[in-house]
Amino acid sequence: MTYVLPVIEPTFLPVVGGGLFPVRRVYCVGRNYVSHIREMKEADERDPPFFFQKPRDAVVSNGAAVPYPPDTADFHYEVELVAAIGADGSDIDVETALRHVWGYTVGIDMTRRDRQRNARDLQLPWEAGKSFDFSAPCGAIHPATSIGHPSAGAITLSVNGVERQRGDLKELIWSVSEIIAHLSHQYKLKVGDLIMTGTPAGVGPVVPGDRITAAIDGLKDLTFTICDCGR
Ligand code: MN
Repeated sequence: MTYVLPVIEPTFLPVVGGGLFPVRRVYCVGRNYVSHIREMKEADERDPPFFFQKPRDAVVSNGAAVPYPPDTADFHYEVELVAAIGADGSDIDVETALRHVWGYTVGIDMTRRDRQRNARDLQLPWEAGKSFDFSAPCGAIHPATSIGHPSAGAITLSVNGVERQRGDLKELIWSVSEIIAHLSHQYKLKVGDLIMTGTPAGVGPVVPGDRITAAIDGLKDLTFTICDCGR
């Protein structure tokens, strides 16, 4: 049998040291730093973690131009540690969760904040605010065999060279292990899944022409520009 239309292209991220990491799904954790919960003035700081997804083909690599999206006038950045899954698993224990992590990178949960707030107010799904084209810029993946499993260190984001976000991975309300345990009770985690683990305070808007740099101690930076270009 032959395909009746062109086969859908796979999504990959480069691996530091060589190779390509194939991406299956992109899961995101909401509200995982107290500082961001307080700036958003929502939710209880002790609420259990909750999850949403972005489409796989929303992933864009370091150096790309990210088109300013339609249907928003308040396009925000959220810098996040991203865990890349390298072993399948369901109902994973916190104690063994890190065995499922193949590597890490820095990513940005780009958000249509006006659409997200509108969805919250109307009790509608978050998709319009979170799950759209080019909404998941991610850096190159560092294998855990090289860097271990980061649990502390600065996480920052700057726009046009001015720092806008600064936190520390040790401020995560739910650790990577705990996130994996929770998430794997809801979904079978599989090879290629990415998990964005939440953002610290300082989120804000960007406009076409802005240059964003995201950084986590020990990982390569992620840099890209917002463009007023085709989408
Ligand atoms: Mn986020």
